Amino acid sequence: MEIILAKHSGFCFGVKEAINRTYEVIEQYKGTNKKIYTYGPLIHNKQVTDGLEKMGVYSTESLDNIEEGSIVIIRSHGVPKAFYDEANEKGIEVIDATCKFVRKVQETAKNSHEKGSKVVIVGDKNHPEVIGINGWCDNDAIIIESIEDAERINLDNICIVAQTTITNEMWEKIIEVFDRKQINSEKNNTICSATEARQLSCEQTAKEADAMLIIGGKHSSNTQKLYMISKKYCENTYFIETKSDLPLNDLKKYNKIGIAAGASTPEWIIKEVITVMSELSFHGETDNTKENTSENQMYDLMEEIEKSLIIPGKGEIVKGTVIQVRDNEIVVNLGIKKDGIIPKDEISSNLTLPLTNMFSVGEEIEAEVLKTDDGEGNLLLSRKKLNANEDWNDISESFKNKSVIEVKVKNKVKGGVVAAYKDITGFIPVSQLADKYVENIDEYVGRVLPVKITQLDKKKNKVIFSHRVLLEEEKAKNVEKVWNSISEGDIVEGKVMRFTDYGAFIDIGGIDGLLHISEISWGKINHPSDVLKIGQKIKVKILSMDKENEKVSLGLKQTTEEPWKILEQKYKIGDIVEGKVVQIKEYGLFVEIEPGMDGLVHISEIAHKHVTNPANEVKIGEVVKVKILDIDKENKRISLSIKETIEKPSEEPVKPIEPVVEPSEEVKEDIPEEIS
Ligand code: SF4
Repeated sequence: MEIILAKHSGFCFGVKEAINRTYEVIEQYKGTNKKIYTYGPLIHNKQVTDGLEKMGVYSTESLDNIEEGSIVIIRSHGVPKAFYDEANEKGIEVIDATCKFVRKVQETAKNSHEKGSKVVIVGDKNHPEVIGINGWCDNDAIIIESIEDAERINLDNICIVAQTTITNEMWEKIIEVFDRKQINSEKNNTICSATEARQLSCEQTAKEADAMLIIGGKHSSNTQKLYMISKKYCENTYFIETKSDLPLNDLKKYNKIGIAAGASTPEWIIKEVITVMSELSFHGETDNTKENTSENQMYDLMEEIEKSLIIPGKGEIVKGTVIQVRDNEIVVNLGIKKDGIIPKDEISSNLTLPLTNMFSVGEEIEAEVLKTDDGEGNLLLSRKKLNANEDWNDISESFKNKSVIEVKVKNKVKGGVVAAYKDITGFIPVSQLADKYVENIDEYVGRVLPVKITQLDKKKNKVIFSHRVLLEEEKAKNVEKVWNSISEGDIVEGKVMRFTDYGAFIDIGGIDGLLHISEISWGKINHPSDVLKIGQKIKVKILSMDKENEKVSLGLKQTTEEPWKILEQKYKIGDIVEGKVVQIKEYGLFVEIEPGMDGLVHISEIAHKHVTNPANEVKIGEVVKVKILDIDKENKRISLSIKETIEKPSEEPVKPIEPVVEPSEEVKEDIPEEIS
């Protein structure tokens, strides 16, 4: 006969805490007259409660019969809020051993009730835990025990919580009903992780076994649920409280017997059952080898139980199964009496995803023990150090293969920034942040940058990252691509980057080409900025290229039709047209009559009067009327005249000479000598 023990059997965290607390209180008041009570049986296990009674700790169902000054221990199921007030009034001291998971459900119910939501508790309305939760929302909650109960609810704005020991199957079915009815609800799956793990391992064991023994108190809700689960997968399931309930005759028929135990079943009861089963096994056999096998199996199982009582020490690396993923932590079952908790910030300092996206229930993980008790009875675990090893491996690989990794810039420091790859921090010198001058380092803080590792010294914990190397490599690749894709004569798009007196530099996909001033316009311009703006996108023609020396000459005017070609169709000698003054010289001025086509107005053709300086007569940009005097197609010259468009002013009329009249003799005498 083979005996298999479900992985998660026996006391859960909450029960164990309540028992330990009770023993502490007994120890503390030993030898005093203090009366100690538990509010209801501490756990649903007669053997344990009988043992407590022997130590003078009795269970009570009411505070009425308790003397003032006594102590009442609240068991893991918790109590309604009113209980504390009543005890206080009666002068009874309360020792609160409510399980932290139950406490959380009470708080959720209380907060939602205070906010005006209707609290719905999925569970057994007579169970003390459910009565307790209801008592935290003024006994106003709706308690549903079945799908039919859920179907009857037609309220909106409800807050659903679960008794910690119901099955996940039940919870999901109830939630399905609310979802189908489109009831606006806040769903809090408050089923305890220990319960989930216990139920799952019971199911797995039942699937393998020919018969199942479920050990636990007859009144224990979670043991009853285990019985139901087991029965579903193994017809021959027996509910026993102790070894004396074992159906020995029946059990002899089976080859493989599974054992699962409720959260309130002490280890010693499980051990006793295993011992009897093992004896039954080898008394039924005659073969010595089989005897030894059965005996060994018993010791293995005992060892397994013993092992589950050993708590790993600080710094130990432990392996476990994820049994719950919460927003701020994950709960790991380590196959021992305590669960492990990994808070969010002990998973990684650089979490970018919610925990629910990173972990799933059932996943096996490793972690390091930080504390053997996090203050709530759990082992505090961390994955940071383990991650750090993995992270260093990634970094070493990346350094070796010159591959790219992503880092997050954390903060500015002297000469650069600190950046982190997961849990490893390194330095990016300011010169390596970009492929151009960085004016404001602060702009990089908080950004995720792809980088390459340029220096690595694991012993000194030193890593230097460079974003610039990557940018330059990418640029070089792009430039190579551009060189391979362009040819002389191509028209390409470019961006005006900067000006010089002799032209403009245009970026054509990573290559800076020169657009000489003479290639900008068919006409005359004084400076590239007369026609172009920095940042402007333009189409340019590749006039010549020299890949070896990385030089490209560009033309802009070549992208438009040469104006001389349309000159003949549009203009003839003698035409009077309007144009813009584009250049002024000592010998005359140039007037643009078509974009890029200028004609010269010689100084002698500016005005009818004598002009000594053309700049005194017109301004750059002024629009003037000109007459076409000559078109020299061969030399691409046009002669223009402004004065020919203006009427020649007439000569000054000659004033008729007035006849001279001799003054009389008297007047003559009055004329001063100088005049006469
Ligand atoms: S089953 Fe879970 S919730 Fe209930 S007492 Fe045990 S640990 Fe606490």
